[in-house]
Amino acid sequence: MPEDNLYDISIIGGGPIGMFAATYAGMRSAKVQLLESLGQLGGQPQALFPEKTIYDIPGFSSISGKDLIRNLNTQLQQFNVDVYVNSPVLNIQKTEKNQFKIITNNRISYSKSIIISTGIGSFEPRRLRIANAEALENDKLFYTVNDPSIFENKSIAIAGGGDSAIDWALELNTIAKDTIVIHRRNQFRAMESNVDKLKESGSKIMTPYTIDNLSTDNSHNNLTIQLKKVRTKDTVELSVDALLVNYGFMSNNSILKSWDLDLITTKNNLIPVNSKLETNLQNVYAIGDIANYPGRIDLIAVGMGEAPMAVNNALESLYPEKIQPKHSTQLVKNIKNNENN
Ligand SMILES: Cc1cc2nc3c(=O)[nH]c(=O)nc-3n(C[C@H](O)[C@H](O)[C@H](O)COP(=O)(O)OP(=O)(O)OC[C@H]3O[C@@H](n4cnc5c(N)ncnc54)[C@H](O)[C@@H]3O)c2cc1C
Repeated sequence: MPEDNLYDISIIGGGPIGMFAATYAGMRSAKVQLLESLGQLGGQPQALFPEKTIYDIPGFSSISGKDLIRNLNTQLQQFNVDVYVNSPVLNIQKTEKNQFKIITNNRISYSKSIIISTGIGSFEPRRLRIANAEALENDKLFYTVNDPSIFENKSIAIAGGGDSAIDWALELNTIAKDTIVIHRRNQFRAMESNVDKLKESGSKIMTPYTIDNLSTDNSHNNLTIQLKKVRTKDTVELSVDALLVNYGFMSNNSILKSWDLDLITTKNNLIPVNSKLETNLQNVYAIGDIANYPGRIDLIAVGMGEAPMAVNNALESLYPEKIQPKHSTQLVKNIKNNENN
């Protein structure tokens, strides 16, 4: 096995938590690779809410999803980390030398330890199940917002009752001509303070309605949304410029089933870990949204704390004889192009 194909730590999943784990492992001078299945790093913030403003990242009063990922990337690039995108990990197998063989769609590598940060797995938005929805996608019908400016001075309907829908209604309300929120229940599942803000925002709220049909006029300028009032035969039509559907997303972590890991199959195949973030497999750790222990909540700030814990525990297990420095000030010499090098 070529030496450059053997890593101390392989991090599977390049969302925010995997990115920070890779940064930290690089800072600790570990030989580290970061493997990401999508064509870009950044996980959920980059793919699902790049423009959303996040208010609970330590050290930032507020930051958008994409700016957070850009900053994490800048931080990552200071250290020697091999980054592979478009590299879904298909399997991990224990070798006779007590190492791991990591198989992606295009490469085989080896690692002494593994940190799994696959989050919610490979994900895609939950789509509207209406005959012509697919034909209207990315024209009149959207599931994610990459560029909010396309909604400037437009009439936008937003379907959904969770945080994403309410967040987008509040955000787009500042630039759109008008916003209409459509939800199938009278109660929203979003943060209460944001629901209160929505009610005061001037957005029109249509509940309890479901979307029955979509059509466009001949000029293809307007989108007509036919709504049906839940448990009645009443229908109503809305004419808007675009519809943003936030019905959540479907994720798939089933690939983990072939990796000999204990999984909580009733909870989307989450990986149970102990207080050292160890899985049932020695030298395999799980962090971020994929990890599960009592009291864990799926927040970036929580995963950011788990990343250095997993890296330090992995290195301590691999190299128990080595002194384990923990503060970045003791490790600053590892920064690429640092003048102290
Ligand atoms: C709409 C929305 C709003 C949110 N708002 C907030 C907020 O305000 N504050 C907050 O703290 N949190 C928020 N969250 C939650 C936050 O996004 C997650 O907690 C965070 O993204 C978890 O990061 P992660 O790195 O563990 O997983 P993810 O972000 O899910 O990243 C996992 C990565 O692993 C990759 N992957 C999966 N399987 C494989 C494989 N087999 N091989 C290689 N790569 C793989 C995926 O492609 C993905 O890039 C929000 C989430 C959503 C959906």
